[in-house]
Amino acid sequence: MPQCPAARIGDKRDDIDTPALVVDLDALEANIAYMAEFAAASGVRLRPHAKTHKCSAIARLQIEAGAVGVCCQKVGEAEAMANGGVSDVLVTNEVVGARKLERLAALSKRITVAVCADNAENVDALDAAAAKYDTVLSVLVEVDVGAGRCGVRPGEEALDLARRINSAPNLRFGGIQAYHGPAQHVRSHEERALTIAKGGDALRHTLELLKADGLECDIVGGAGTGSYAFEAASGLWNELQVGSYVFMDHDYALNLDASGGPVDTFRHSLTIKTTVMSTPSPTLVATDAGLKAYTTDCGLPALVDRPHGSIFKAADEHTMISFSEPEVRPALGEALYLIPGHCDPTVNLHDWIIGVRDDRVECLWPVDARGAVF
Ligand code: PLP
Ligand code: MN
Repeated sequence: MPQCPAARIGDKRDDIDTPALVVDLDALEANIAYMAEFAAASGVRLRPHAKTHKCSAIARLQIEAGAVGVCCQKVGEAEAMANGGVSDVLVTNEVVGARKLERLAALSKRITVAVCADNAENVDALDAAAAKYDTVLSVLVEVDVGAGRCGVRPGEEALDLARRINSAPNLRFGGIQAYHGPAQHVRSHEERALTIAKGGDALRHTLELLKADGLECDIVGGAGTGSYAFEAASGLWNELQVGSYVFMDHDYALNLDASGGPVDTFRHSLTIKTTVMSTPSPTLVATDAGLKAYTTDCGLPALVDRPHGSIFKAADEHTMISFSEPEVRPALGEALYLIPGHCDPTVNLHDWIIGVRDDRVECLWPVDARGAVF
């Protein structure tokens, strides 16, 4: 059962209970608008990834701003997005197992759904599930453009699988999925560009083979917050699947731009509000948010507007912060804000996103795909 939200609409920011996931709505809207305008100016479609926010209210804002739909990673996320009013979802992932395939086929009767595959046996199972539900599923071939995760090899392997999809009676060949995860967090701008360019060469060859075979790609999808500009400029990809840009976590802020400075295109809209619950020494505090309020897979969170404080430990329900002088140490009960290291798994720890503007709670959004891990 979801917990009650830590605030009510109209509350002052100061009155939000903690720990809580707080989104600055001006920053969120600026990020959404920037990416929508960028995609439009680049002549590519935008299909933001809902794995980041798991929140249909945010998906709807992205779509209102011009996105063609959203991406999901799991069938359960896709179902939650459909329940929240999203009508076009690409599952950018392989879906394996009869139960999940049947749910996917059933969902395709309600909304536009596409899914990825990298295996002939899985293609046959997708076809069987679609036949059972008397539907046609759109299937993209996932190609490994260097990420070393899922995907067939570019070239002939991709062509073979595309042909198999194309000849399956209840499937439609939907295009190519080509996402390079590790490239997103390569710090140097030049190296990120080179990594995507290398993947682009393999993709170009694959697209040529498909074309020569008469196989049209509706979607050529990929790109994340670290690399989208390169995919958009390549002339190969036609859909951007950016996710984290909407919140901008601390890890992404460590990427460098072309001039060698930190990337500052997007604002940090997502924070954890936490309260000082103990002052064990004149320069130390313990706050009430810990590993159950944010994840540390990409490092400790960053502390907002407290240049003299340094987070040094995250425990289950505590964050330990040291301050350079007793004079700058916050007092018991004071609020601090943390920027999570990695936004996606952090959001998945919360039932509610509390939207704030001008120091007032403006909206409470359920994280309606929270826990949709299957
Ligand atoms: N597309 C796919 C397939 C992903 O797995 C991800 C994130 O992991 C994204 C897009 C979004 O990337 P980012 O959050 O880096 O913008
Ligand atoms: Mn992520």
